[in-house]
Amino acid sequence: MSRTAVATIHLSALRANLARVRSLAQGANVMAVIKADGYGHGLERVARTLADADAFGVAAIADGQRLRAAGHRQRIVVLSGPDEAADLAEMRRLKLDAVIHHDAQIAWLEADRDARPLRVWLKIDTGMHRLGFAPHDALAAHARLTALASVDRDIVLMTHFSSSDEFDNAVTAEQIARFEAVAARLPGARCLSNSAGVLGWPAARGDWVRTGGLLYGLSVVDGKCGEDFGFAPAMTLSTRLIAVNRITKGERVGYAGTWTAPADMPVGVVAIGYGDGYPRSAASGTPVLLGERLARIVGRVSMDLVTIDLRDVPDARVGDRAILWGRGLPIETVAAHAGTIAYDLTCGMTRRVLFVEDAG
Ligand SMILES: *Cc1c(COP(=O)(O)O)cnc(C)c1O
Repeated sequence: MSRTAVATIHLSALRANLARVRSLAQGANVMAVIKADGYGHGLERVARTLADADAFGVAAIADGQRLRAAGHRQRIVVLSGPDEAADLAEMRRLKLDAVIHHDAQIAWLEADRDARPLRVWLKIDTGMHRLGFAPHDALAAHARLTALASVDRDIVLMTHFSSSDEFDNAVTAEQIARFEAVAARLPGARCLSNSAGVLGWPAARGDWVRTGGLLYGLSVVDGKCGEDFGFAPAMTLSTRLIAVNRITKGERVGYAGTWTAPADMPVGVVAIGYGDGYPRSAASGTPVLLGERLARIVGRVSMDLVTIDLRDVPDARVGDRAILWGRGLPIETVAAHAGTIAYDLTCGMTRRVLFVEDAG
């Protein structure tokens, strides 16, 4: 095999993570959010492994098409609903649930002569200010939807948090209060929490939770990794060490020579780069796991290659497996070195990476 970058997807971790979300959600239904190709883990693979989720959440109708084609029959919620009037027919045909967040969408529904029932989630903007009806407009929106014969009676009320990963941030408490003030005047199930909401905001449990990150073992809580909350990484990204070179003190390594060897030392070359989705922003000092030991990136990440300081791994040999993140090396640590979040890394895998499934 010419390329050696491998993303191993741990199916048992996905299943265990769903079970842990269920236990934390204490009876709430779980929508498994599998948008962006299952956060980069593979849409069909994740859906098949988490087939007993109560619903799937996706961002695109095309994902709904793929899930129906794979035989999944549970609710599939398109998290931003129809993007244009013509989407409605396809959503009805595939029995996809629509999140309705804007007047324009209600106007498309009102103009639609199609009688096939559509299930709707009404999104209320309680402070994120991205999608949703302002609280004072939500009652009127709900009434317009209820008046439509082709909209299912059971409208779920939902909102989305901006800062639920900060467990002491009063903004989330305020969002919950704004949501409850509107929801108290409407029938229907409630859906508030994303992953961080499930971890930190039991008051926001509601009837449904919408979790993505935790299913993959990922955390967005600053300074914490998924394992700190009892979740297991679902992806291990690994590759091979393809060169070990002796570099002389004072020599510079990599593009633009941004790193200078402080001593005569071994520098390893690892077969991965931003062409695989490893972040170019990973700074010198980012860890790479070799066996039981951590080596540190030196110099710039390039398209195909990464250079690492091997002084702490003197027995490293060409052909050794190197782990970039996953089992043994939390992806959140790597993300912090790269100035981003773990979600961004798993979503960024390119087609050059070989995906393999690990059932254990
Ligand atoms: C992506 C998304 C989620 C899932 O968020 P996680 O932090 O991955 O749990 C939930 N709700 C909405 C509306 C989303 O867009």
